[in-house]
Amino acid sequence: MNQTVKLKVKPAHVKSLKAGYPLVKKEAILNWRDLKKEGTVIELVDEKGQFLGKGYYGLQNKGCGWVLTRNPKEEMNQPFFEKKLKVAIDARKSFFEDEETTAFRVFNGEGDGIGGLTIDFFDGYFLINWYSEGIYRFKEEIVQSLRTIAAFKGLYEKKRFAEKGAYIEDDDFIEGERASFPLIVKENGIHFAVYLNESAMVGVFLDQREVRKAIRDRYAEGKRVLNTFSYTGAFSIAAALGGAVKTTSVDVANRSKSKTIEQFSMNGIDYEAQDIIVEDVFNYFKYAVRKKLVFDLVILDPPSYARSKKNTFSAGKDYPDLLEKAIHITEKNGIIVASTNSSTFGMDKFKGFIKKAFHQAGAEYNILEEFRLPPDFKTIKSYKEGNYLKVVFIEKLT
Ligand code: SAH
Repeated sequence: MNQTVKLKVKPAHVKSLKAGYPLVKKEAILNWRDLKKEGTVIELVDEKGQFLGKGYYGLQNKGCGWVLTRNPKEEMNQPFFEKKLKVAIDARKSFFEDEETTAFRVFNGEGDGIGGLTIDFFDGYFLINWYSEGIYRFKEEIVQSLRTIAAFKGLYEKKRFAEKGAYIEDDDFIEGERASFPLIVKENGIHFAVYLNESAMVGVFLDQREVRKAIRDRYAEGKRVLNTFSYTGAFSIAAALGGAVKTTSVDVANRSKSKTIEQFSMNGIDYEAQDIIVEDVFNYFKYAVRKKLVFDLVILDPPSYARSKKNTFSAGKDYPDLLEKAIHITEKNGIIVASTNSSTFGMDKFKGFIKKAFHQAGAEYNILEEFRLPPDFKTIKSYKEGNYLKVVFIEKLT
């Protein structure tokens, strides 16, 4: 049984916690030094000792724990986790029934009531992401809950709580049947090869499902497409399936080439008719300008933060300059898909970046549509940072 530590919340933080803010930050707690062992159950109280919420101590870069319940009588036991997981899985019924989509999120951290834990479904397999050692201490309760309420072929996990939130290299298999890799999943009829036993990134980012569908169904036909920070080329596959005349995928990681070839091949697309370039995007932009290359659809989906040999990129600071470079190689009336998964700024600031970039480029624009997280990535109003994904489709007018 995990012990309980009572934490006194500083007056300035009481209101937001009362309003449902689920993250526990050190700076909000008077006696955080009392926290010793991750996985400890914490009970938050105000200065008068009045109960505010209960949760667990777990270190992530964003905070030191999560509130899981506002009911003082609830215990952090197996039935508690089972109830949360059941509600979440039931809410994804339409996904489980959709034969064209076999990969989606079934549990989205604080959005589903347990910060620090996500669970994705990949064609019969569940992949559990543990974001702190604290939540990992509830592994037995959570795995037992899945056994009770869900049918699965096998369970895999990612322990994402080593230093700096890095992923611990490990055998990620928990139990059941081992999958043979690549595991082929479907998303709106698109095939993706995924690997649950390699690294923290399994081959496809499920949160971009609606964006890929929009590109395939409404934006790609007859277009020359540039996909930057392309990873395994998922956006390029969607564009090619949507009738793009050619896609160009650019990513600095060596592995991206074979991974992109694999994803094209999964979908019956001749990869030799596409360009797959292993290169720093910033060099590629220079090359494209030199060669006077232009594109009708340019996709920008950089990591929030990245360091390459020559460049450090931080979305919160450098996005306008990145976008400006993309604007220069976009055809008039072409479309730029500007995406960011940075949780450090919101949509308003992102739109400010777009405005700034077009101003710098001396171009006019029109915003066509916007995407946030899809419904399986459930979020809550009291934790805005949780809705991290921002994707804006922009037409370059002049
Ligand atoms: N857009 C992708 C996901 C991008 S993940 C998708 O939808 O699947 C971020 C990718 O950016 C990683 O594959 C990483 O290798 C790449 N990357 C980071 N810095 C880069 C740079 N300077 N130039 C090119 N690629 C970069």
